[in-house]
Amino acid sequence: MYYYSISALLVTLLPTLARAQAALPNVYAPPEFDKTYEGYLILKRPATEEEVKGHCHYPVLHYIGCASRVWEGKVCAVFIVADEVLAKYGLKLEGVLRHEIGHCHGWPKNHPGAITVLGQR
Ligand SMILES: [Zn+2]
Repeated sequence: MYYYSISALLVTLLPTLARAQAALPNVYAPPEFDKTYEGYLILKRPATEEEVKGHCHYPVLHYIGCASRVWEGKVCAVFIVADEVLAKYGLKLEGVLRHEIGHCHGWPKNHPGAITVLGQR
């Protein structure tokens, strides 16, 4: 009976856990980098993570997006994977763009001082 209860609980919990694992939080730059971008922004939306990877040479877990600063941030090229792929991670363009704009302002790639926001969908 004891074991039965445990497995019943697992069956109930597993779909929830699987969903939670697929969703990624929004990660924002600390205030000094988290601000409106005044430069010239180029935004490209590759269809797949594989394509994003082709533009982003820094190794990361998920190739959702990346930014490349030109001329001390006066120009910034941003690659963000298509909405359908973002949706898979529970993310939206707005949140990912805000992250990448942090990089346009010079926020280092290893994300010092990152602010992680869960459940803001
Ligand atoms: Zn980043």
